[in-house]
Amino acid sequence: MLLGLCRATVITGWVLDRSGHRPTLVVWVRCRADVPGRCGRSGRRASGYDQGDGARRWRHVDVAFARCVLEGPAPRVNCGRCGPTVAGVPWARHDTVFTRAFEDVVVHDAIRSNKASAARRYGITWRAVDGMCTRLLAEAMDRVDPLDGLIAVAIDEVKSKKGQRYLTVVSDPFTGKVVWVTEGRSKATVNEFFDALGAERAADLEIVTTDGAEWIRIQCQEVFGEQAIFLCDFFHVSEYLGAAAPSCRPAQPNQWRRTQQKRLRRGDVQKVIAALEEHLEPLETLEEEAPVRNGYRYVSNRKDCLDYPRALALGLPIGSGMIESGHRHVLQARLKKAGTAWLHEHADQIAHLRVLRANRQWLSLWN
Ligand SMILES: [Zn+2]
Repeated sequence: MLLGLCRATVITGWVLDRSGHRPTLVVWVRCRADVPGRCGRSGRRASGYDQGDGARRWRHVDVAFARCVLEGPAPRVNCGRCGPTVAGVPWARHDTVFTRAFEDVVVHDAIRSNKASAARRYGITWRAVDGMCTRLLAEAMDRVDPLDGLIAVAIDEVKSKKGQRYLTVVSDPFTGKVVWVTEGRSKATVNEFFDALGAERAADLEIVTTDGAEWIRIQCQEVFGEQAIFLCDFFHVSEYLGAAAPSCRPAQPNQWRRTQQKRLRRGDVQKVIAALEEHLEPLETLEEEAPVRNGYRYVSNRKDCLDYPRALALGLPIGSGMIESGHRHVLQARLKKAGTAWLHEHADQIAHLRVLRANRQWLSLWN
């Protein structure tokens, strides 16, 4: 009980070994005899094969002052898919020298701080922490597929602090939850998402909202053709309108912006373009000082992605306001945290885990 092991585990004895600089509690365990053998890799039921390499040890969560290790047999089963493979044990994941509980604690720590400090705290290597994150992630991804049941997605790019690295983030605009993340921003990352989604689920998508980045829109249109409605994120369009408003109606900029937003919701895109056109800055004005020109160009170039009435009629969300607050918070908090080593090749992994935690699916890992 104190060791937090599940009921399928039988404790057959223990000894306190005082020979090291810190005492070690060695606990002998085995699987309950009436639990059928399963392959450690695939989880399929399988019959016994041999005794493997004899007893093995797994580092467990410390018990008070002592380190704790579990020691138990690691027989092999003959799996129909994997061949002779070490049998699964309830206290540890496959192919690791740590127990499940120990890994959960370390990964939890790594997500809250970072992998390097978790490694220091538990006296293990960074690589070991990395392996734990990978195993947990694989397990979590197996259990919950956030790409199921989507009818709308919002695709965005998120910039890291120094603006040198990007993540492509896909969220469900209905719930504001992030459903998919990868590093980079290119046509290839969009394709990667559609591959992950698969043709069957992609056919259920009715709406794709983007932040208006050309590459996302073009790539989505290539993949989806006529099937889905493409929308520029209403909030991004509103940002352009908000920037232009003081030049268009200096006395009541907010009212002007709201008027244009109403027109967009009604589908009067031409009126919005005309309202901007009236106040275009002279050609010699610099780009960065010409918010009306920027807004005019943004809206005119995206006329076919502004069909808000159709989206609203279908009850679909038109903007990613919730997502903004959602994933920006989750991901950028991590990316921008001063002093956090930005672990390039593992950005994905940590992002996935953070997203799962944010979505409270984290809890499902602890059962
Ligand atoms: Zn197997």
